[in-house]
Amino acid sequence: MARYTDASCKLCRREGQKLFLKGDRCYSEKCAIERRNYVPGQHGQGRKKTSEYGLQLRAKQQAKRYYGVLENQFHHYYEMAATRKGITGENLLAILESRLDNVVYRLGWASSRKEARQLVTHGHFQIDGKRVDIPSYLTKVGEKISIASKSRESAKIKAVLEATASKPIVKWLELDRENCAAKIIAAPERADIDLAVEETLIVELYSK
Ligand code: SF4
Repeated sequence: MARYTDASCKLCRREGQKLFLKGDRCYSEKCAIERRNYVPGQHGQGRKKTSEYGLQLRAKQQAKRYYGVLENQFHHYYEMAATRKGITGENLLAILESRLDNVVYRLGWASSRKEARQLVTHGHFQIDGKRVDIPSYLTKVGEKISIASKSRESAKIKAVLEATASKPIVKWLELDRENCAAKIIAAPERADIDLAVEETLIVELYSK
């Protein structure tokens, strides 16, 4: 599975906003955006990108990096979004939100999407009682997600659950903390997605 392996904090600095790629560190004063909020590299503090294309490209890169998705898959999601009813940009974000790794992160079962992806790959989660180890699996309304019984005893999972015990849960997910289970009760809406990106710019870029 292809994935981005460069330093996570550089990606946030390149995009000029927190993308929450490193779990607890992102909420601490060690966060690179808190300390050095300018583009990395020799000319980082002097660079400005104001062209229309530049803005569209940055919007796409922000969304890709936020969800940890590479170009081909992101483009595939865009094509899916364009064929759905409704606003293409919002459809695109809803598709990205419904990825299993994102859902695991939103439920507080991982401290970052990167960690969620790893935990999913290791087979710690089930959907409707069946093991699913594909991070890009697109969840659907009505599906039930749970942590596999054996995995609930894992020290790593226990530590994450303890650390995220008071994490607020998005309204399209229903979490039963006691039983390590959850249900998708609605499709994610734009207002539920805390990504500060203008998705219309992404649509404009792909529509050229
Ligand atoms: Fe981004 Fe988190 Fe690094 Fe801050 S600590 S720059 S939010 S990855």
